[in-house]
Amino acid sequence: MPVKSIERTPSAHRFPLLIKHLLQNVFSYTPDNEIVYRDQVRINYYTLVERIQSLGRVLESLGVKQGDTVAVMDWDSHRYLECYFAVPMYGAVLHTVNVRLSPEQLIYTINHAEDKVILVHSDFLPLLEAVKDKFETVEKIVLLADGAETRPDTALSLEGEYEGLLASATGDYQFPEFEEETMATLFYTTGTTGLPKGVYFSHRQLVLHTYALVNTLCSFRSAVNVDTGDIYMPLTPMFHVHAWGMPYMFTMLGSKQVYPGRYDPEMILKLLVGERVTFSHCVPTILHMLVNSQVINELDLTNWKVVIGGAALPRGLCRSALGHGINVISAYGLSETCPLLTGALLKPHMLEWNLEDQIPYRCRTGLPVPGVSMRVVDSLGNSLPHDGQSTGEVVFRAPWLTQGYFKDPEKSEELWRDGWLHTGDVGFVDEQGYLQITDRMKDVIKTGGEWISSLLLEDIISQHEAVSEAAVIGVPDEKWGERPMACVVLAQGYEDQVSEEELRNFFHKFVEDGAIAKYAVPDYVRIMDSIPKTSVGKMNKKELRKTFSE
Ligand code: AMP
Repeated sequence: MPVKSIERTPSAHRFPLLIKHLLQNVFSYTPDNEIVYRDQVRINYYTLVERIQSLGRVLESLGVKQGDTVAVMDWDSHRYLECYFAVPMYGAVLHTVNVRLSPEQLIYTINHAEDKVILVHSDFLPLLEAVKDKFETVEKIVLLADGAETRPDTALSLEGEYEGLLASATGDYQFPEFEEETMATLFYTTGTTGLPKGVYFSHRQLVLHTYALVNTLCSFRSAVNVDTGDIYMPLTPMFHVHAWGMPYMFTMLGSKQVYPGRYDPEMILKLLVGERVTFSHCVPTILHMLVNSQVINELDLTNWKVVIGGAALPRGLCRSALGHGINVISAYGLSETCPLLTGALLKPHMLEWNLEDQIPYRCRTGLPVPGVSMRVVDSLGNSLPHDGQSTGEVVFRAPWLTQGYFKDPEKSEELWRDGWLHTGDVGFVDEQGYLQITDRMKDVIKTGGEWISSLLLEDIISQHEAVSEAAVIGVPDEKWGERPMACVVLAQGYEDQVSEEELRNFFHKFVEDGAIAKYAVPDYVRIMDSIPKTSVGKMNKKELRKTFSE
């Protein structure tokens, strides 16, 4: 029997899911809530929407056509938020440029994305100047300036400065209606090998993703909940996966938002406390920096909720954050997935537990959120049982996953083998339904035919009181293929107080408890001053493997 289609009244409005509709009712509840940029700008929602409309006019006067790509190179700012809305609402594609790429990668992404206009903060002018002779499609450059520096000394030809252009844009701009499948955003993910790959999302996907964030954070009674009264400050760069989609959600909710600009620890702490921020998200590295800073003991952070993603939340870090009153849980996603896939939602009975007992669940990769289908599969694509042990690749379906890599059909097919998005992450699902990622497929340590989870070893060593940060990698070994090596940064005050051998011995307790096999104890522990980080602040294991491959 064919399914029955709904009947459409000819005059019924077919409502496309467009980003502009997220703004539809922002004036109805708390329009006076502020959007704050450092100690420089403070606007309410009326002004935000006005500025978004003016930006529409500016795009028009710059000659931007629907379907063109407009790139942004900025720190986290109210301007970036305005671009998140105005550029896609105009019918153009917003390219959020990773400003920490090498010059070769930067120009590759700008040309590959076919950027027509670039809005660039004055701090990144030298970066752009260095590659300007290799532009293939860029026609216009607009300056984003903080304060007075509206006429910087640059070899680039600038169309004007953002604030000046907005001020001279007149009249109400009406953003058009179009198909919800229209491309809204594009950005590049840098894998461990090869050129950056572009991922892209439609209006429909971003709207559904926004709803999914609301479903996850506002509906379940869990350890971390948010509502319109929360005060939001991102601590991940806005070029990375739409700052996890949170700016769209908090704008739709009409919450107060705080944008910290260039990452300057002093400014971040000042805003955190001064603006009474209640919700942030970041990679573990940032939380780690904060809980290890000198001033942490002078701050009251008991109203601060933090979602950690981008990498696993080690138990040691979770414990010290909770110790400072920071309410922290983990979540999981990829550039390819918009990003939300799973969140470490605590179930009602777990909320009754003391904090120490909650830690393993706060650090779980999480439960799939509404709208997400998840499977863990073996190498033949068969689903594995949810027994807390059977480990395989984690694959997903959801309405908001990139439908491919931009202009790369071959890699797109690889990503979407069998109609499931292949994450390249391995893990298991426990009896309670929680996913635990144990490794990236390329980071897993293969020793004598067995697999060792580098994340589990990091989680263990993070619990040693002398350890501040740790990354575990596989190093080549003639007999076993690979052997684990732990690279460790010591906590302040423990320098010269603990030996590499003592740290190695710490793993033995976990062998006795049955948490790891004897062969998983790292052969080597190296105490280092710091661990190299990637362009988005994650531990750079590729770099570590290169350093220690001999
Ligand atoms: P990216 O596309 O740069 O955001 O990186 C996505 C990758 O980060 C995933 O494939 C995972 O390997 C890793 N990742 C993100 N969140 C988590 C998490 N909560 N636990 C473990 N790994 C994570």
